Amino acid sequence: MTSMTGHCRCKAVTLTIPDATAMLARGVGVCHCTDCRASTGAVAGMELSSPKKDVQIKGSPKAYTNKADSGHEVTRYFCDTCGSPLYAVMSRMADFMFMNVGIFPPKTLPAPTSEHYLRNLESWEKPYPGVKANQ
Ligand SMILES: [Zn+2]
Ligand SMILES: [Zn+2]
Repeated sequence: MTSMTGHCRCKAVTLTIPDATAMLARGVGVCHCTDCRASTGAVAGMELSSPKKDVQIKGSPKAYTNKADSGHEVTRYFCDTCGSPLYAVMSRMADFMFMNVGIFPPKTLPAPTSEHYLRNLESWEKPYPGVKANQ
């Protein structure tokens, strides 16, 4: 049983997944939608997903809700002390959380398995090899 722990830069918020086996097997999702770009500050959001019930949250992240490119509401949680983006919950999959991979330590991440909004790729970007591409 592999456990995973991630935290924001100031460590006020910590996420622990005591049994991360299923989460790691799902792999990393990459999303190039404008909402993921703006909220991460990078050309794509990268996340690991897990049912909420399997994640222990320590601390009180702040939440911001808006409508993503999909037209569905997404609530993104971030540390209001250091500003690190932590995770998102989508209204249409409310039991799941999508955690930003950068909160986890280096060398702990599985490879990307899915990629979304490839139409937004910059001219110098390429899809990740072997991913299941959507849109
Ligand atoms: Zn913080
Ligand atoms: Zn996105």
